[in-house]
Amino acid sequence: DEAQITRQLILPYDTMLEQRYLRRLSIISELKRALVEDDDQLSVAYQPKLNLKQGRITGVEALLRWNNPALGFVSPDDFISVAEQAGFIGQVTDWVINRVVKDIQGFTAAGISLNVAINLSAQDVLNQQLLPGVLSLLDRHGVSKDALSFEITESDLVKDPKAAIVHLQAIRDAGFSLAIDDFGTGYSSMAYLKNLPVNTLKVDKSFVLNLDSEPGDQNIVQTVIELAHTFDMSVVAEGIENQPSLQLLADWGCEWAQGYFICKPIPAQQLIDWYAQHQHTDWLS
Ligand code: C2E
Ligand code: MG
Ligand code: MG
Ligand code: MG
Repeated sequence: DEAQITRQLILPYDTMLEQRYLRRLSIISELKRALVEDDDQLSVAYQPKLNLKQGRITGVEALLRWNNPALGFVSPDDFISVAEQAGFIGQVTDWVINRVVKDIQGFTAAGISLNVAINLSAQDVLNQQLLPGVLSLLDRHGVSKDALSFEITESDLVKDPKAAIVHLQAIRDAGFSLAIDDFGTGYSSMAYLKNLPVNTLKVDKSFVLNLDSEPGDQNIVQTVIELAHTFDMSVVAEGIENQPSLQLLADWGCEWAQGYFICKPIPAQQLIDWYAQHQHTDWLS
């Protein structure tokens, strides 16, 4: 009968929802446990940033990795949003910052000076404890402020621009470099950009992945570079997967490049080896 047909149509969908809900619940409980027990489930991968003006690697981005015995490898695109919604992203960020500061000491010991960019969520930006916490952590470990910078996703910021601006200004005033991440996906207005206390725009990888073959993307990226320069900001392009794309960005005056073509995100120790091997690489020929 009709009711039975309806039930059959709905059932698989319901089951799917239920599975997603259960997965979410286990992400919450497992991630909270991993944060507290610090038992090697979490790690930070570093992805180099190529300074196109200097032709050398001067920075990296810190990207959180999570490998859970029950859930397997979980992508940050899945667990970061869950931690945000469940209200404990602050703990995640604390964990990342602490690990990054330790790893910076390792880089320094290896004779490598790199700026490490940390991804912040909107909740982190609004958290009054963040900045004093970071400053005292750096102080305690004898790490300079130049060693750290921050990235905030554009779509996160535009939700409450007024509040965000005040906090971003404080982060800038403290001496940290700030980038808008995934730029081009969040509908920033010109007026907003003009007032935003950031010094870098990071072009979203969706415009960069096929840059060499997509004239539309080429127009967008060139426009973003010009726009950024109008506001005295510099530009990072993320998601460079081939040499022609890298060459285009250099030709257009883009300041920084990041992507699998240069290097994938790798663990700290591997980064030290990679850096030694690529110190004299000529990326643009
Ligand atoms: P994001 O900050 O925009 O980072 C760039 C993402 O693009 C990373 O994915 C990186 O591995 C990937 N990527 C880099 N180069 C290429 C490339 O050439 N091709 C392709 N296809 N992908 C490339 P990942 O590591 O999976 O991170 C995804 C997102 O999760 C990040 O996007 C960021 O928004 C968030 N995330 C990662 N770690 C953290 C963290 O510690 N805190 C917070 N709040 N968010 C984080
Ligand atoms: Mg980022
Ligand atoms: Mg992002
Ligand atoms: Mg991105």
